[in-house]
Amino acid sequence: MAKKEQVDVLVIGAGPSGSVSAAQLHRDGLKIKVVEKERFPRFVIGESLLPRCMEHFDEVGLMDTLKAQNYQIKRGARFIRDGRDCWFDFGEQYTQGWTWTWQVPRGHFDKVLIDTIASWGVDVEFETAVTQIEKGADSQLTTVTHADGSETQIESRFIIDASGYGRVMPRMFQLEKPSVMAPRSAVFGHFTDRNRPSGILGERITFVIHRRDIWIWVIPFSDGITSVGFAGNPDFFAMYNTEDKAEQLINMMKDVPFVWERFHDQDNVIPGRMMNAYAASVKQSYGPGYVITGNSSEFIDPVFSSGVTFATESGLVAAKLVKRHLNGEVIDWATEYVQHMHQGVETFRVYVNRWYEGDLQDIFFFSHDSANPEIKRKICSVLAGYVWDTSNPFVRDHGERALGSLSKRVKIYE
Ligand SMILES: Cc1cc2nc3c(=O)[nH]c(=O)nc-3n(C[C@H](O)[C@H](O)[C@H](O)COP(=O)(O)OP(=O)(O)OC[C@H]3O[C@@H](n4cnc5c(N)ncnc54)[C@H](O)[C@@H]3O)c2cc1C
Repeated sequence: MAKKEQVDVLVIGAGPSGSVSAAQLHRDGLKIKVVEKERFPRFVIGESLLPRCMEHFDEVGLMDTLKAQNYQIKRGARFIRDGRDCWFDFGEQYTQGWTWTWQVPRGHFDKVLIDTIASWGVDVEFETAVTQIEKGADSQLTTVTHADGSETQIESRFIIDASGYGRVMPRMFQLEKPSVMAPRSAVFGHFTDRNRPSGILGERITFVIHRRDIWIWVIPFSDGITSVGFAGNPDFFAMYNTEDKAEQLINMMKDVPFVWERFHDQDNVIPGRMMNAYAASVKQSYGPGYVITGNSSEFIDPVFSSGVTFATESGLVAAKLVKRHLNGEVIDWATEYVQHMHQGVETFRVYVNRWYEGDLQDIFFFSHDSANPEIKRKICSVLAGYVWDTSNPFVRDHGERALGSLSKRVKIYE
């Protein structure tokens, strides 16, 4: 193993979390390297973004390049239950912030992000997988394996593990912790969308509530392709189970008229894939010389599309703390990193749990005369990812109290 490089920070993974970290550290003048196991573009799910993450891309200088891609603009979300509609519009929310974001094919989006960063002069190596790490207090020695099987070593002062579903450090150092979320499944694919309705009905992400515990996403992209996915409790997927996930997806779509009418004659350009028990957590997300960000640290559930926003939030916060640490400052990681992420993650956890229990769905579809538009604006801010604005009672104490009393009120009127 001849080659040994030296950098300030090694970033593992070139998803949105790693890209935002790398962009921030590069702007701070540190010598960094990004290693990515796959050749890009690669498929990854997670195509609907939240307004909050626009702040991250903007802050690290990636916004202009992203805007030039003409991705499908997402100004809100539409929910459908029993033929009834409920709309949230990010322009009508409580927290001051971005009122729009994008729906993106992630293969393209992630490649644009990392290629832009590479064009700034950041060293990015694809088809390079981290296979071993020797941790130390001041210096980390990482072994990477290249596509041809050869190995090299990278010595870094710090590691940011943004390896997503790869979960490099949690697996390597037994940091994984079972998630408190119930295990759920998803089957999804991409389709042509020639029957797409014109205007906002065709453009907007739509969630169809099929059963209390099963929902379907329809996410249109600007290139005419649309992502369709089913998510929820595993017993539903068992009813359709077949080895061939493309066939399984089509069979499930046939049973949802809203979906089948639009896609029955379309081409399935990315055939069905399945993911199971994707919720993940860690015992600790930082230690001497390392921090774990994005999905490698925590993932709750796809409903409400919070994954990429947590990936970029944690990637950006971690990068800023790493820079201060390398400057000699003593960092209170428990407060500035763990507690910060906890505030946002726990808020979404409350909403996700109430969604699957059904009472959040009832709140969404509550149409009594006294349904309060101010409350809707506050819930809309959560759905936009503004889960750190604790002046919002639907964010304070993670929304427990506000949602609890609202749910009681809804039950009384029903
Ligand atoms: C069914 C489903 C639907 C979802 N829908 C949404 C949605 O609509 N919106 C949303 O925001 N989120 C969604 N998510 C979540 C989203 O997929 C993730 O939160 C997001 O991709 C996390 O980004 P990341 O940068 O942390 O990791 P990733 O995007 O997974 O990137 C990590 C990178 O690390 C690389 N890597 C892995 N191992 C190694 C290694 N050993 N060495 C080097 N590199 C390595 C990988 O190849 C990968 O490119 C969904 C998740 C699921 C399961």
